[in-house]
Amino acid sequence: MVTLKSPREIDTMARAGAIVEATLKLCRRLVKPGISTEDLDREAEAFIRSHRGAKPSFKGLYGFPKSLCISVNEEVVHGIPSHRRILKEGNIVSIDCGVCIDGFHADSAITVPVGEVAPAVTRFLATTERALAAGIEQAVLGNFTGDIGHAIQAVSEAGGYGVIRELVGHGVGTRMHEDPQVPNHGKPKRGERLLEGLTIAIEPMITMGDYKTKLLPDKWTVVTADGSMAAHFEHTVAITKSGPRILTKAA
Ligand code: MG
Ligand code: MG
Repeated sequence: MVTLKSPREIDTMARAGAIVEATLKLCRRLVKPGISTEDLDREAEAFIRSHRGAKPSFKGLYGFPKSLCISVNEEVVHGIPSHRRILKEGNIVSIDCGVCIDGFHADSAITVPVGEVAPAVTRFLATTERALAAGIEQAVLGNFTGDIGHAIQAVSEAGGYGVIRELVGHGVGTRMHEDPQVPNHGKPKRGERLLEGLTIAIEPMITMGDYKTKLLPDKWTVVTADGSMAAHFEHTVAITKSGPRILTKAA
């Protein structure tokens, strides 16, 4: 069931979104060779909880043990932070963060290079971020989720990259994952109609190779089946009369 949010509820989500954005900025500053993903998680959780009434959305969600999902290189999403996982020069690291405040969630992710990465990888990250921007541009009244997916797919495949199908964006609000699903591929004018007050997480998950994925034995971490690198960028967006409002990015 799709739930539409009032302007006031959207403002609450934007407050959660501002904390998500600040947390990801903090993580971006901390990412360097030698830091563990557990260190990032600890810093992020303390920072989130330093805001009155704010808590990390992911901790305990479906039993997930940590505050951030941190996924390195061929890991696509849902990597579990660990003190054993040390970031190395040339890696890319996807950091996915959710915050809940006053009963409403916001959800955003970035993928950042660790030190110097190959030029092809820099281009790959830029294209995935551009795919997210293209998807957000389609998040307007009267469009459909298929318009968003189609735009993301077009930018990604023009770059020669794979668009993951098994994982999709989603509605977000009083629950972290709500209807509708927001796939990263599709056809214009298909899927769910975008109504005023709909709040969705748009989140391209793109690979440098094939789009097929598999699940690691930890039952959380999703990796590319061919071992190619994966990138993930995400924003929470509200559909409004005046266009898409990004709730996880300062206006
Ligand atoms: Mg997320
Ligand atoms: Mg999400």
